[in-house]
Amino acid sequence: MAKKLKIPTSTPHPPDPRHTDGVSSGELGSYQELLKNASDIIQSLDLNGRFLFVNHAWQETLSYSNDEIDGLTVLDIIHPDSHEKWREIFEHAVLGMNVDTFEIALVTKDGQQILVEGSTSSNSIDGKPTAILNIFRNISQRRQAEESIRKSEEELRLMFDSVVEGIIVSDLNAVLTRVNNSAVDMLGLQSKDQLIGRSGLELLSLYERETATDRIEDLPKQLPKKGTRVTLIKADGTEFSAEAIGDVLRDALGNPVGFVTVLRDISIYRQLEETLSQHVKELSCLYSIDKTGQRPDITRNELCQKAINLVPTSWQYPEITCCRITLGNQEFRTNNFQPTEWKLSANINVKAQKEGVIEVCYLETKPELDEGPFSKGERLLINTIAERLGQIFENKQTEEALSLSEKRYRELADFLPQTVFECDQNSRLVFMNRHGHQTFGYTPDDLDKGLSGLQMFIPEQYNRVINNVFKVLTGLNSSGFEYTALRKDGNTFPAIVYSAPVTHDGMTVGLRGIIIDNTERKRAEEALRESEMRYRNLVENASDVIVTIATDGSLTSLNPAFETITGWTCSRWIGQPFTSIINPEDLPLMSGVFQDAIRGEMVETVEARLRTRSDEYLIMEIKVRPLISNGLVAGIFGLARDITARKQTEWELQEKNAQLVRQQHQLMEKTAEVERANQLKSEFLASMSHELRTPLNVIIGFSQLLVDEVPGGVNQEQKQCLYDILSSSEHLLSLINEVLDISRIESGIIPVKYEEIALSEVVESITRTMASILTPRRQSLAVEIEQGLPPICAEKGMVEQVLRNLVDNASKYTQEEGKLKIEAIREGDWCQVSVIDNGTGIKEEDQIRIFEPFYQLDYSPERKERGTGLGLPLVKQIIEQYGGRIWVESEYGLGSRFIFTLPLAATG
Ligand code: ADP
Repeated sequence: MAKKLKIPTSTPHPPDPRHTDGVSSGELGSYQELLKNASDIIQSLDLNGRFLFVNHAWQETLSYSNDEIDGLTVLDIIHPDSHEKWREIFEHAVLGMNVDTFEIALVTKDGQQILVEGSTSSNSIDGKPTAILNIFRNISQRRQAEESIRKSEEELRLMFDSVVEGIIVSDLNAVLTRVNNSAVDMLGLQSKDQLIGRSGLELLSLYERETATDRIEDLPKQLPKKGTRVTLIKADGTEFSAEAIGDVLRDALGNPVGFVTVLRDISIYRQLEETLSQHVKELSCLYSIDKTGQRPDITRNELCQKAINLVPTSWQYPEITCCRITLGNQEFRTNNFQPTEWKLSANINVKAQKEGVIEVCYLETKPELDEGPFSKGERLLINTIAERLGQIFENKQTEEALSLSEKRYRELADFLPQTVFECDQNSRLVFMNRHGHQTFGYTPDDLDKGLSGLQMFIPEQYNRVINNVFKVLTGLNSSGFEYTALRKDGNTFPAIVYSAPVTHDGMTVGLRGIIIDNTERKRAEEALRESEMRYRNLVENASDVIVTIATDGSLTSLNPAFETITGWTCSRWIGQPFTSIINPEDLPLMSGVFQDAIRGEMVETVEARLRTRSDEYLIMEIKVRPLISNGLVAGIFGLARDITARKQTEWELQEKNAQLVRQQHQLMEKTAEVERANQLKSEFLASMSHELRTPLNVIIGFSQLLVDEVPGGVNQEQKQCLYDILSSSEHLLSLINEVLDISRIESGIIPVKYEEIALSEVVESITRTMASILTPRRQSLAVEIEQGLPPICAEKGMVEQVLRNLVDNASKYTQEEGKLKIEAIREGDWCQVSVIDNGTGIKEEDQIRIFEPFYQLDYSPERKERGTGLGLPLVKQIIEQYGGRIWVESEYGLGSRFIFTLPLAATG
């Protein structure tokens, strides 16, 4: 507040300005002195506005000298802006009315404006003003200070109202004294007046209000220094969360006079926080599914299992949330799964095809949110999870397909019997198939440690390899390059390399190729050369004509044998048609053969005549084959052998054969004649023998009567003669009998009879009848017949005759006390019977002949027994008429075994 300067109305006359520094006397003098030295600007004016007196402060402030003051009027020191105001004041003063306080602007000599607070008072004499006194106080600085305070107050006020935080100021009783706009807005009110004068506690929620009221005395201590969460009530009664920071307001002495509280509405943060934490849950669920899905070893089932357990945790109410994934006929569900009406579901699509479905259900009803009990986020989330699962399945499928195809190709590469390799752009060997590892001896470990592709070749060829690799990478060449490959163990082998650049996104990232071991091919080439040489030698040295003919029929090559055989020179015929050297009669045949061979057909060996230089024809045996070159018939190849001489021999042979056939016919006719004669002879013999036997029996009968002396006595000499007649007659009889038997069989007079007979029975009867012969000689006869021998098929009498003859011979040609034996065994469909003795035996040269009629051996001069020489021929005849055989095994001096076979009766 400006202080009023009161000058007493009884102020003495104004001092003479010309005597400002002089003090005349007494009271006035001291008063003037006081005015002069006062800090305020003081002036005294006459009624015309001329200066009567100015003090030091006036002079200092306005910068006029004493002399200059004389020429001035008061308007010179009043700022033009204040002239009007000043005139009014001055007029009042002239009329004797004082103006206590006014503000005007003065102006200094150098034009500077000075704001002053002034007062006027007038000196009056007899009620009439004579002079006017002004006292000015320079208020420029104060004004500035006031202005700056005002400004800063304004700024503060603006700030107070413009901060987003609500600010409330209250007294010690919590009565609100000041609030800002944000506080009004925050509390849902219209104006500050609705708050001023109310208790700040009313802003708190009921619960917080009670606790705060209880301790109102302690409020200064309780005031939230740091951010504290409070719940406030809005004008519409809803509550919201705020963060409060409070402090105590104190007076100059430090005594508390009130409180200031800053409030920040954090309900939005609260919501955000909740939303955020929900999002975090959702994201972590998605992240876990994603991470699980990326594990290379995870199966689809494992992923679904994991997902159904993860999903509920990211929903608002995990404890009542259940989940199920259905994939085709497979189902994955949380233990608590139960389909309810509060359900969310989304299709899991793989390559735009529905693969399955994921469902989330709440097990109990929940407050309705946007649409149903689920939040928008959850509805989005299930779609995202379904989409993600679909993608993972798709990726897995693709990965599996990829790894399968990679596996397939790798296996295929491993299957290849050649080295397959791959190098990166730094020519580092990054892949080699199994064959490659085996061939070069490098292990996969060697590759991992780093191996240059160059190391597969001998160092001398590095430059060439590098040049060729460059050609391949720039697409100039990729055909096979021949190198000498180098194994890890230092061995080398010839190789051919085919390679191609490996590209990725259009960039060349390496080289891939195949290394073919050329050893075999080289060897094969060598072998081919050798075999070619051999064949050439063969062709040149062959004794047969070897010829090649072009498809047009012209001769293209002939071997030296052609010259030797025909006398022509080969060159004479090269290029000529082959038909020129063939006998015209054979041309149709040979042309046909040629055409067939050209068509690629196999042709039989043919015979044709070849013309020689001496105009003769040689018969050639010709074999023709097509000559195949690159899969096409390029001509034919012929091999011709001169068979003229052979043919000659063949013809002669044929002639001889014809002769032989003729002779054979003649012979057969002769044989038939002989047989006829033989039969006639047998018939003759048979009838002859019969005719002879009758008189011979008469002779024997009567001789026996004479020996027995029935007709009368005879002397000893006569008796001896009679014995001789008798013995000769008996011998003759047996001879005739046997001749008769043989003849009858040979002539077929006796028909062959068959009957089933048990051999044992026949043998038994023989042993019985032969006893009379064997016993006197003290010879034994053993019998051994195979067990279960089937019956034989022949006439019993015949078999008895055979056995009798053989046993009789065995006995005859065996010494006394000799051992005889009959054996019978089965040999397939035959019964094989042996008659064995340990007698004289038969020399080898005689063993066949004894079966001829009348062939008798005479090994010992004192042979006692006399046979007919017809026994064995008869036996042979009988055996053979049953289809059997007879032969003898014997060793001279040791004994004989006569063996014969007879058919067994059909047993089955
Ligand atoms: P023979 O009436 O003389 O016995 P065979 O035709 O029966 O006439 O026999 C011919 C000859 O074979 C006999 O003279 C005899 O020398 C010889 N022979 C036959 N059987 C035997 C035998 N078991 N041992 C030795 N010689 C035999």
